[in-house]
Amino acid sequence: MAAEETPIPESHSCDAHAKERSAARNQVRTPPLLQVQNLRVEFSRRSTSMFRRGEKFAAVNKVSFHVDSGETLALVGESGSGKSTTARAVLNLIRPDSGSVTLDGVRVDGLSHTRMRPHRRKVQMVFQDPTSSLNPRMTVAEILMEPLKIFRLGERESWQKEAAKLLELVRLNANDLVRWPHEFSGGQKQRIAIARALAVRPQLLVCDEPTSSLDVSVQAQIVNLFLTLRQELGLAYLFITHDLALARHLAHRTAIMRAGEIVELRSTEELFASPKHAYTKDLLSNAKGTRG
Ligand code: ADP
Ligand code: MG
Repeated sequence: MAAEETPIPESHSCDAHAKERSAARNQVRTPPLLQVQNLRVEFSRRSTSMFRRGEKFAAVNKVSFHVDSGETLALVGESGSGKSTTARAVLNLIRPDSGSVTLDGVRVDGLSHTRMRPHRRKVQMVFQDPTSSLNPRMTVAEILMEPLKIFRLGERESWQKEAAKLLELVRLNANDLVRWPHEFSGGQKQRIAIARALAVRPQLLVCDEPTSSLDVSVQAQIVNLFLTLRQELGLAYLFITHDLALARHLAHRTAIMRAGEIVELRSTEELFASPKHAYTKDLLSNAKGTRG
């Protein structure tokens, strides 16, 4: 496996967890669940006062990282740093201009919709705004059964039962199956969106700021749900956030992104104890300042 091309390598990890996982991986020589190498995604500029419209720029540039099975990698950066674009490339929702995305040993960047199908199940996404990710014209049962239908998982007769199980997995009640999305609070809607993502039994969840539209008290509950699901299902997460405290709480390793590039990627413990890159230091001291 090629070294990750980050300016500050994630060597000498003191995170025992990470060590165990990478030792296990080296022994059996299985590839990481997700490997992103040298990713670059270009866009034409939207018109702003600063730039000429249509000019090309790299929203994501030289981005490399991996996520092991069961591992949580946080991708932290300010708004516009390229986090969501990276996520979309990982899910093959956009085609990178260069670089590669490898899922479970299979290169998926640039695969057609049909060829992507068998790999799509391995990785699912949870978005920031649960209201817009749930179809308002479908009941909760329909929302949860749709992926089972699309991927033809199990018999038709088993779908209802499976949907009930999914609701229980996210700590909602099976009685909620007959209800509509608008009947739920923001936190409950996000639980439903998470249940939907889990329907196809993915190994990796890409979560793009999944708690930032929620009230602070609800955020903690959803974060705890992510932790519980990690334990119960052995899920891996690519967890995108601009919240350093959240990354620290959840992630085994943390990548800091700025202007399309990862400037530092190390075990979360090390990164917070002794940030190396000037930008990471800035972020950490700013976060301390705002906490008061
Ligand atoms: P983040 O998720 O970190 O806030 P994004 O990945 O959404 O950042 O965006 C990175 C940069 O790419 C931003 O400057 C954004 O305006 C730009 N961008 C994102 N999507 C598009 C697009 N479809 N067309 C043009 N520019 C885009
Ligand atoms: Mg974003």
